[in-house]
Amino acid sequence: MTKVFNVAKVREDFPILKREVNGKTLVYLDNGATAQKPQTVIDALTKYYTHENSNIHRGVHTLSQEATSAYELTREKIQGFINAPEKESVIFTKGTTDGINLLAFSLGRDFVQEGDEIIISAMEHHSNIVPWQMLCEQKKAVLKVAPINQRGEIILEEYKKLLNPKTKLVSIVHISNTLGTINPIQEMIAMAHEVGAKFIVDAAQSAPHLKIDVQALDCDFMVFSMHKVFGPTGVGFLYGKKELLEVIPPYQGGGDMIKTVTFEKTTYNELPHKFEAGTPNIAAGIATSAAIDYMNQLDWNAVHLHEKELLDYATAQLKLIDGLRIIGEAKEKASVISFVIDGVHPYDVGVIIDKMGIAVRTGHHCTQPLMDWFKIPGTIRASFAFYNTKEEVDLLVVALKRALQMLR
Ligand code: PMP
Repeated sequence: MTKVFNVAKVREDFPILKREVNGKTLVYLDNGATAQKPQTVIDALTKYYTHENSNIHRGVHTLSQEATSAYELTREKIQGFINAPEKESVIFTKGTTDGINLLAFSLGRDFVQEGDEIIISAMEHHSNIVPWQMLCEQKKAVLKVAPINQRGEIILEEYKKLLNPKTKLVSIVHISNTLGTINPIQEMIAMAHEVGAKFIVDAAQSAPHLKIDVQALDCDFMVFSMHKVFGPTGVGFLYGKKELLEVIPPYQGGGDMIKTVTFEKTTYNELPHKFEAGTPNIAAGIATSAAIDYMNQLDWNAVHLHEKELLDYATAQLKLIDGLRIIGEAKEKASVISFVIDGVHPYDVGVIIDKMGIAVRTGHHCTQPLMDWFKIPGTIRASFAFYNTKEEVDLLVVALKRALQMLR
């Protein structure tokens, strides 16, 4: 029997949800930008600075050893969270953007040559476009873009046509932050592997919504940010197949990533430290454990049902608003809804409904080429987390109607 998801109880864990904004209780619908943090994550940050603060992987003293153990425990928890085969395949980064830049540099150096091809899709975030453009410019490689249909789904036949022996890399978003589309990533990975290309999954939006299994997906690399997974800012992860991480060069040089240094030559540290130069965001790294523990104690079947209900309910209610058009109506969709409304600018709507306590994102959502494709300047985006409620959807709808009365 499926357990009923107790959203009221879950909301108790997130202190910010009780605050008021402009005299109204906060309705936080900008989870695609960053998610709120449970008290346990906030407590873990405070506990680190109050009791454990010290540098990691260096000191013989107790504090340093405690901090190192706590930091390395997070690596093991992430290994479990994404089902990586070993913890050496899990690299701490600053976030998704950092992970993609690491790959563009380290994979790009020897693996991509003049005339080679890299495939992305029309719905990528700027962080999964610009680093590849920079690499292609440097290497005289060619960036190809898999097209989408009007519903906002990648056209698989067109993607297949782009794949050929010159394709070295494919880097695709798992869930679109703008459209909510859940891409058929497993199928796309298998297709890329048929031509010998390596596949990178941008899991920034899927890590908070889907059960991730890098072994089942068979992706070569995956990147995500913890701040979208109810964890702290400033920390994210790169997963890579160990045999690939072993052969690609480090991204940055410095402390911790070395085995020996002389002025003549440096030898690099073992995985995963080879990719972790310098003092990282230790507090956030340690507090990430609390976020993963929080995710693990949730009943994910119930969470999925709740998020699907929110998506369906919000879609139906929003469509009743005169002149409102949803951008992105993929068959497989996560709880992210982008929309435009005839005759009003998304920005104006966002500013007015903020006065009613409602936080949505407006603009291009770091997907300008996608906005160009839909021939719109931007959208209003409501992105839901498991702590959102149908009542909040109702408040959004009322606020939108009031904003339209003011603007039209
Ligand atoms: N990719 C996607 C799909 C995203 O939604 C985001 C964040 N909006 C990023 C990449 C970049 O993540 P970050 O800013 O945490 O590096």
